Order: sequence, then structure tokens, then C-alpha cells
Amino acid sequence: MSSLQKGILVVVSGFSGSGKGTIMKKLMEKYSDKYALSVSATTRDPRPGEEHGVDYFFVTKEEFEDMIQKGALVEYAQYVSNYYGTPKAYVEEQLSAGKSVILEIEIQGALKIKEQFPDTLLLFVTAPSAEELKNRLTGRGTETPEVIAARLSRAVEESQGMEEYDYLVINDKIDETVDLVDTIIEGQKNQNTEGFSNLSLSSNINFVNKLREELSGFSKGE
Ligand code: 5GP
Repeated sequence: MSSLQKGILVVVSGFSGSGKGTIMKKLMEKYSDKYALSVSATTRDPRPGEEHGVDYFFVTKEEFEDMIQKGALVEYAQYVSNYYGTPKAYVEEQLSAGKSVILEIEIQGALKIKEQFPDTLLLFVTAPSAEELKNRLTGRGTETPEVIAARLSRAVEESQGMEEYDYLVINDKIDETVDLVDTIIEGQKNQNTEGFSNLSLSSNINFVNKLREELSGFSKGE
């Protein structure tokens, strides 16, 4: 196998409600031969329909802290009062099997991964507007108003770090988004990213600033 065909590490982050979970699901259905999606460990409770070992490894705080102690996580972070972390063994196995490994994680974890593996591709997914994010988050009906408020205020914090990411993916039409994510990963793998300069954060700075302003308004209850 030539070095160009080896898998890469890809981080996908996005605000709560950006639809990144659905994008990942569809990406894996369509391109399961190319990608491996890392399953994280978390101390949060499962949502209806979520399965242990599929969506997350749902563990207790003690079990999570034990994984940290044993060095079993590549990175971990706290998000709205729960721990989330990436098990190391799976990432290593899949990379050496030649697959690109996708980590759907938040920004602190993303930056820790980038520090350890500087070639990691960082993608940031957002809904087309802050209003749309709020609607998706509320419409999901799985979180209490307090948790929704905490997640919106976390989105404001996360929006401050968006410039660290390589590309912004605006999730409007889901099937197009899935193909775009595949195209970006392929481009990065083949070191051919010329066509993507319009997706860089700096090219979208006006959009990003507007989103920051709107999110900050929502988190203050406006
Ligand atoms: P949720 O509770 O909505 O499933 O996830 C909350 C946040 O935690 C999301 O931003 C998600 O991307 C992030 N997350 C999920 N798994 C991990 C992980 O292993 N590490 C880190 N750092 N963040 C994660």
C-alpha cells in the first residue's frame, strides 16, 4: 500500500444540535469500508435509543477515572458536568489497519489530539444559523431546559476556538454534507486540498462572527 492510501485521523466537532451525530451515522453507512468511527466513553446517561458500545461506552465516574489512571484514553474532557474520552486501543488498531479514524469530540479534546498528532484534520460542523441550532436542540426533546441552556452557553465558549479548525462544514442538506465531509477527508488523505480554501475558517469569518453574536444572545436568554 502506498503511503498516500494510509488512513488519517479526523476530528469532527460541532455545537450541540449541529447534526454532527447524524452526519457521522450516514457517513459510516455509506463509506464503512474507508472509515472507522471511534466510540467514546462517557459518564452521561444514555438517551432513549442509545446503545452501550454503539453510541458510547456508558461508564460510571469511577470506571472513567480508572481508564484515565491506566492511560487507556487518548484524550478526555469534561462537558456540561460529564466526562467524555476516546479509548486509545481502537484508534491505534484501526489506523494500523489503514482506515481513517473519525473522532466526534468537543474542542478541548480536539486540541489535545492535534497536539499529539499534528497531521489530524479538524472539521467544525454547524447548522446554517444559531436560530436553527436552538430549534434542533429544543426539537430533539431529549434534554431539559436547564441542559439546553448549559449546552447553548457551552456553544458560545466553543465558538471562541473555531479558528483552530481546518474547515467549516455548514450542515444544511444532510446528504450533501455527508458527501462533502467524505470529499474533504479524501482530499486531505491525498494531500490535494486546493479546492477547499472557501471552506477555511478565515474565508467564513463573517458567518462565524454572526453566529457567535447570535449564540451569545441566546445564552443570555434573548
Ligand atoms: P453528547 O452528550 O451530545 O453526546 O456529547 C457532548 C459533547 O461531547 C459533544 O460535543 C461531543 O462531540 C463530545 N464528545 C463525545 N465524545 C467525546 C470524547 O471522547 N472526547 C471529547 N473530548 N469529547 C467528546
